[in-house]
Amino acid sequence: MSILADRLSKIKPSPTVAVTAKANELKAAGRDVIGLGAGEPDFDTPANIVKAGQKAMEEGKTRYVAPAGIPELRQAICDKLKRDNDLTYTPDMIAVGCGGKQTIYNAMTATLDEGDEVIIPAPYWVSYPDITALFGGVPVFVNCPQENNFKLTPDQLRAAITPKTKWLILNSPSNPTGAGYTEADLKALADVLMEDENKHVWVMTDDMYEYLVYDDFKFKTIAQVEPGLFDRTLTLNGLSKAYCMTGWRLGYAAGPKDLIKAMNMLQSQSATSATTFVQWAGVEALTGPQDFIAENNKAFVERRDLVVGLINDIDGLECLTPEGAFYVYPSCAGVIGKTTPDGKKIESDEDFVTYLLEAEGVAAVHGAAFGLSPHFRISYATSNALLEEACARIKRAVEALS
Ligand code: GLU
Repeated sequence: MSILADRLSKIKPSPTVAVTAKANELKAAGRDVIGLGAGEPDFDTPANIVKAGQKAMEEGKTRYVAPAGIPELRQAICDKLKRDNDLTYTPDMIAVGCGGKQTIYNAMTATLDEGDEVIIPAPYWVSYPDITALFGGVPVFVNCPQENNFKLTPDQLRAAITPKTKWLILNSPSNPTGAGYTEADLKALADVLMEDENKHVWVMTDDMYEYLVYDDFKFKTIAQVEPGLFDRTLTLNGLSKAYCMTGWRLGYAAGPKDLIKAMNMLQSQSATSATTFVQWAGVEALTGPQDFIAENNKAFVERRDLVVGLINDIDGLECLTPEGAFYVYPSCAGVIGKTTPDGKKIESDEDFVTYLLEAEGVAAVHGAAFGLSPHFRISYATSNALLEEACARIKRAVEALS
C-alpha cells in the first residue's frame, strides 16, 4: 500500500512554478537561459514596504496573530475595496492568507463537496483546476479561444451551468493571457448569473492583476458591476504582483461572513495566519504611497508593446495585445507539424517550448498547462534588452524549423 493518498493522483506540480525552477536550475548550472516563465515582477519590493516589515520585526511583532489577519490589515483591505472598487466590506468579511493561492485553497476546501462543479474558463491559471480537484470538485472547462480575446461569453456561461455548479472562476486581467473583462463584459456575465435558474452559482473573482492595466482599460470587478451578486461573490486579491511582493506571500479574500468565517477556521488549522510582520508590511503597502505602480506600469506597457511587435514579426506565431497583467499568450499554431534541425517533430506547444529551451535557452510555459493549445505564455516582466534577445532567439529557433 502506498503511503500517498489516492487524491494526489488528481493533481500535479504547478507547471509555472516548475518552469521557473527549471530555468533557475539551468542558470545555476552555467547555461545561458532567459527566463520568461516566472509570473513575477522583476522590480524590488518598494523600500517603504520593506522598512515597514523590518520595523515590525524590530518592534517584536513576531508572535502569533488571529487567523483572519491583524485588524489593521483587514481594515486597510476594507478601505482599499471601498476606495478602488466601491465595495463595502467590514473586517469580519475579510480573510488574509499566505498568498492568493492559499486563500483559493481555503475557499475551495470550505465549499466543495464531492462532485460539485467549478466553471473554469480556459485558458486559466494553472492552479484553479488542481485545487478544485483536490477537494473532490469537478473542473468544468470552457474554451475561450483567441478569436474571442480569450474571454468567456454569456452564452458559453449559460451552457456550462448545471444544478451542480458551485462556482464560476473569473480572472481579469488574466493569467496567462492578460485579457481584461470590460464593465460591459462583466455585466453580460452577471446578467446570466442573475437569472432565476442560476442563482445557486457563486463567483470567485481573482483580481490579482487589478492594478496592472494599460492604455485606457478600466478595471472593474463583478460585484461592483452587479451589486445583486455581492452576497455570492468572493473577491480575491493579493499584494504579490502590483506591490512586487511575490515572496512575502500575502493574499486576501472578501466575501460573505459565513464563508469567511469558515475559511478563517481552516486557516487556524493550517498556517494559523499569514506571517505577522509581513501583514504589517502589507498595511504599509495598501496605505502608503501608490505612485510606483504607475511608474512600473510604464515599463510594463513598453515591454508589452515590444514583445507583441517582435513576436508578430515571426512567421508562424501570432500574438494579441492584452489589456493588462505582464503576460502575452501567442498562438504557435504555425509551427505545429514542423521539424527541428535535429529531426524532432513539433507535435504540441509543449514540444515547442521544450525546443525553445533546448535550442536557444528561452524558458516559457506551454499553453497546454493553461488548458488552451497551441499557445505559449511569455512573462514579459524582465528588461527590454533581455526581451529583445529572447525574441531574437525565438525567431531564430522558428526559422530553423522545416
Ligand atoms: N502566478 C505566477 C505564475 O503564474 C506565479 C507562480 C504560480 O503560483 O503559478 O507564474
